[in-house]
Amino acid sequence: MRDMHDGRMVALAAVICAIGTYASFAVAQHAARSKGQARLVWGLVSIVSSGCTAWATHFIVLLAFRPGMPAAFEPVLTAASLTLAIVGIGAGVWISITSRRTRVQFAAGLIVGLGIAALHYVGQAAYLVQGSVHWDYRLVVPSIILSLPLCGMAMVATSGRSRKARRFAPPLLLLSIGVMHFCGMAAMKLSYDPQATFPSNAVSPTAITPVVAGISLSLIALAVVGWRFNLAAIKRLRQDRQRLRELTDVALEGLLICQGDVIVTANSSIERLAGYAPGQLVGARATDLLPGADLTAIPECEEREMGLTARSGQVVPVRVLRAEMALGHKLQTVIAIRDQRERLRTEAKIRKLAFNDSLTGLLNRASYVDRLRHYMDEGTPLALLSIDLDRFKAVNDQFGHVAGDEVLRQVGARLRSIVGENNLIARVGGDEFAVILIGEEAQADAVASAQRIADGLGDPFCTNRTVAFTGASVGIVLAPNDATTTGELRQCADLALYRAKEQGRGTICCYDAEMDAASRDRRTLESDLRTAIGNGEIGLVYQPVMSTQTGLITSVEALARWKHPVRGPISPELFIPLAEETGLIVPLGATLLRKACSDAVSWSSDIRVAVNLSPLQFQSGDLSTTVAKVLRETGLEANRLQLEVTEGLVMKDVERTFSELELLRALGIQILMDDFGVGYSSLSYFQRFPFDKVKIDKSFIDQITTSRAARAIIQAVIGLGEALDMGVVAEGVETQDQMRLLVEAGCTHLQGYLFSIPLKSWDLERSLSVMSLQGTSGTDRSDKLVA
Ligand code: C2E
Ligand code: CA
Ligand code: CA
Repeated sequence: MRDMHDGRMVALAAVICAIGTYASFAVAQHAARSKGQARLVWGLVSIVSSGCTAWATHFIVLLAFRPGMPAAFEPVLTAASLTLAIVGIGAGVWISITSRRTRVQFAAGLIVGLGIAALHYVGQAAYLVQGSVHWDYRLVVPSIILSLPLCGMAMVATSGRSRKARRFAPPLLLLSIGVMHFCGMAAMKLSYDPQATFPSNAVSPTAITPVVAGISLSLIALAVVGWRFNLAAIKRLRQDRQRLRELTDVALEGLLICQGDVIVTANSSIERLAGYAPGQLVGARATDLLPGADLTAIPECEEREMGLTARSGQVVPVRVLRAEMALGHKLQTVIAIRDQRERLRTEAKIRKLAFNDSLTGLLNRASYVDRLRHYMDEGTPLALLSIDLDRFKAVNDQFGHVAGDEVLRQVGARLRSIVGENNLIARVGGDEFAVILIGEEAQADAVASAQRIADGLGDPFCTNRTVAFTGASVGIVLAPNDATTTGELRQCADLALYRAKEQGRGTICCYDAEMDAASRDRRTLESDLRTAIGNGEIGLVYQPVMSTQTGLITSVEALARWKHPVRGPISPELFIPLAEETGLIVPLGATLLRKACSDAVSWSSDIRVAVNLSPLQFQSGDLSTTVAKVLRETGLEANRLQLEVTEGLVMKDVERTFSELELLRALGIQILMDDFGVGYSSLSYFQRFPFDKVKIDKSFIDQITTSRAARAIIQAVIGLGEALDMGVVAEGVETQDQMRLLVEAGCTHLQGYLFSIPLKSWDLERSLSVMSLQGTSGTDRSDKLVA
């Protein structure tokens, strides 16, 4: 069969076929890029040109055929073959546009194949020879059956997404056409008949050649047009990309334009962010920059937090936004990438400012409560350590606030190094800190941790100019063992801390439930005390003090009594300290002083009345003025009033106390040193201030019969009294033995149950009159005492 073909003509057919195919494709692409009517027109041009290509190719090959006998063309069938080719291809293309589905594409390919088959066999039918044509259908049928699926596959390949798949389309199509053509030719058996004649309308090959040539030239011209179109399109795409790149470079955000996963454009922001040189990102994969990110899974215009892997391997936190955009006639993926480092840094800074104490950098109170609440809600086992610096106020007063702040900073640093990073440390107040130890292990270790803290903060703090000594008391509470709510827990911690402080500096104390009961009790008592003071429920009793010289009552000590409406009598040892802690002692003390003075005025005897003073009464304003006013208003002579003060008072603010005591003494009031022997018992006070009397504490009297040391101390105090011309009162005398020893030792005054319990004002008045009746036999009494 090869011999029957003119090789040069076959080559020409191949060239025309290639040019025509290119022209059809180029025009089709142009149609796809165009809009409106242009799209339709160029679409039709593409279809017609592809039909013409097929037809021209076929006819050039027919012309290349040398059957060895005269040949001609039947004009109607020839025209019909062209029409069928155009219709078949047109229908196929039209169907292929309707859907991208493989099945539809394949069907479209079959229709195109049918068009080509029609072109072929109708064209073949138009081929006339001088003789007869016989068809070998054993070749015709397989040629169609084989070529149609090939054509379908070619169409599927054309519509394929990847370039690789599309590359298969032309060879498949060529194979399909080749199979059809050459099988068709082989199936055609020609037998020469010199008698045979051509029909009258038959056209000779020489007449059809210019038509074929004309169509071929048109295809060449169209190919040139299509080529220009393509060039223009490529140029525009390039320009678009360039302009886009210029535009995106202005953007602060990183921008990637991708086709699928492949980056086609990247702006300078993203290059800088990811650490690449200009242009280096083009061709790279977006998922290399954003590993693990399924970009297609991000809904359009919805931001996502991701990690961008820079060239250095560093992961940068970014926000990613995806949008599909038509760029240069193509739908492309634009990925906007925003660097989040600055924002995160700012956020962290804000969070730090909002949640941390600016001085120490520890958590502040609000965030501490917040965290604590969080852990409590989760039921996390934890230990809360409540820490209070001892004597910090003194540090502040003595060295100034700058040094105070420095100490606080150092406290923060020490706590950090003691407690470790896993636990939380907060500054919850001026000199109050809290530590939350998290987990059961930390709980078990809480006491040891607290001890480390107390020890660590007990060491001196060196600031620029000074060395400050402070220390810390620590209260410990465990959750959820001791408390289940945040409020409860903090209360328990405060209570434990309070107990620790009570026990002295640098101590630690664990919360227990009894503490809570006691504290609740205290709180109710406190409010009861307030009401009691308001209602005048607190009264006075008077305990006589006897002179060992005369055996007569020389004075009485006023002692406070509170009869609680429900709980009955409450000891002053309980409510006086409570009144002192709450500050209630100031109004209460003033009321009691006034009552004692007016009671004393009412008595028939002019014995003295001794009133106990709390240190706090000294601290609040000028006591001497208050006392002078009370004396004036009640009409009590100043020399009938005695004030009992303790060493604790003198210790506080030495200068002020002594000047205040001077003023009181100047009024004519006697000042007694109470409870002498307990506490610090500095003899220097007696040098500084001439007390009128000193009261030896009951604890010594209790031991006078049993302890030589107690006797020695009593003897010493009495000696001191004699030397300084100061009366000595022994309080709490209960037995005859005690009395005898005290009288022998030279004690000037005695007070105790042995003589009288504290009495109500009128009971006292009654016994005073009895005593004064006996007053004449005062010597007897004195004798009795001495005996
Ligand atoms: P204090 O000043 O040492 O008062 C003496 C206490 O010893 C009184 O207890 C008194 O009743 C008690 N007492 C007297 N003789 C004996 C005795 O023979 N045996 C025993 N066991 N006790 C005896 P009270 O009245 O309970 O007062 C206790 C403390 O309360 C007082 O100790 C004083 O420090 C304080 N206090 C009482 N009343 C007042 C007050 O009006 N103002 C202030 N600031 N403190 C007061
Ligand atoms: Ca007293
Ligand atoms: Ca006492």
